[in-house]
Amino acid sequence: MSGIYIHIPFCKKKCHYCDFYITLNKNNVSKLIEAIKFELILRKNFLNKNSIETIYFGGGTPSMISPNYIGNIIKEIKNNFSVNSNIEITIEANPDDISLDNLLKWKKYGINRISLGVQTLNDNLLNFINRSHNKKTAIASIKKISEHYDNFSIDLIYGIPGNRYDKLKNDIKEIIKFNPPHISAYNLTIEKKTVFYNWLKNNIIKKEKEREIIKQFNLLKNILEKEEYIQYETSSFCKKGYESKHNSGYWKRKKYLGIGPSAHSFDGKYRSWNISDNNKYISALNKRIIPNTEEKLSKKMKINEIIMIGIRTKWGIDNKQLITQLKYDILKNQKNTIDKLINDKLIYINRTKIKATKKGSILLDYIAEKLLV
Ligand code: SF4
Repeated sequence: MSGIYIHIPFCKKKCHYCDFYITLNKNNVSKLIEAIKFELILRKNFLNKNSIETIYFGGGTPSMISPNYIGNIIKEIKNNFSVNSNIEITIEANPDDISLDNLLKWKKYGINRISLGVQTLNDNLLNFINRSHNKKTAIASIKKISEHYDNFSIDLIYGIPGNRYDKLKNDIKEIIKFNPPHISAYNLTIEKKTVFYNWLKNNIIKKEKEREIIKQFNLLKNILEKEEYIQYETSSFCKKGYESKHNSGYWKRKKYLGIGPSAHSFDGKYRSWNISDNNKYISALNKRIIPNTEEKLSKKMKINEIIMIGIRTKWGIDNKQLITQLKYDILKNQKNTIDKLINDKLIYINRTKIKATKKGSILLDYIAEKLLV
């Protein structure tokens, strides 16, 4: 079982925290879609005829291009790959693109899951982070989606400088009234080459205090757990049976094919990434060349990936997987470190798996760092 990720690199505005490859110039949308279709054909054997379990349209903002383009891409995938009958097909969407027309067209083309980028319901903060929607649009869009789709997810950001515990609490309470089956909550990180990074360097903003970030994360977690959401990955909460199959595939290290500028792929041995430039991507594909760079994963890199990803999930770091796939027994090789982490009540062992405790769940980077080889 494998997944396909399609990167649609267009946005209306660039959010101040965003370091993804995107462009505001929509002039070459149709050329880019043609190039994406060429890439799908050229790479149709990449997944070794594995059945496709998930397709994910991310970006960028795939909801801002015509749904017909999305339909064309899905058709091209179905023509070239073997697609599972109960495939999950997700589209990332911005609240201001949620119209009845779009919802119905996406559904007609096979989209059965929407991931909505709400981030916050505070208009001042939405403005501060440079999102293109406001609270009113966000609420209206959640309502509309919930009337037409059974499976959808809301993205939230905590730790935004200036946001406060009580405001975040109101946001979550307002959102869960619509009973979204999935919520992703991300801590705002300030990456290089973003507006926020510049503002931070020039003392225009200050990072939120660690204590406040932990408080906000615990608040989210507590409210969602009371509402019977399962935290299956650090940032991901869902009602029973509504895990994102696509993201779970990444965390379980399933193979995936990434199509479009800047998209990443993984075939079990190699990771590769496409060029982050629309024009160069289009012109390479017009010559039927795949403009990517690849890196072979060493045994050490694979072990470290399993550790870093595993500790973030409810499935934990699977020693059985490490032994069978990589002949590495973490429980034996790292016995002293593991004993110390257990002693500090940061991890526990469940059969062959190492999992983070509640206390450890806010110190995942620290735990991973201790266990890396
Ligand atoms: S909408 Fe998403 S991809 Fe586009 S600029 Fe904002 S964060 Fe980045």
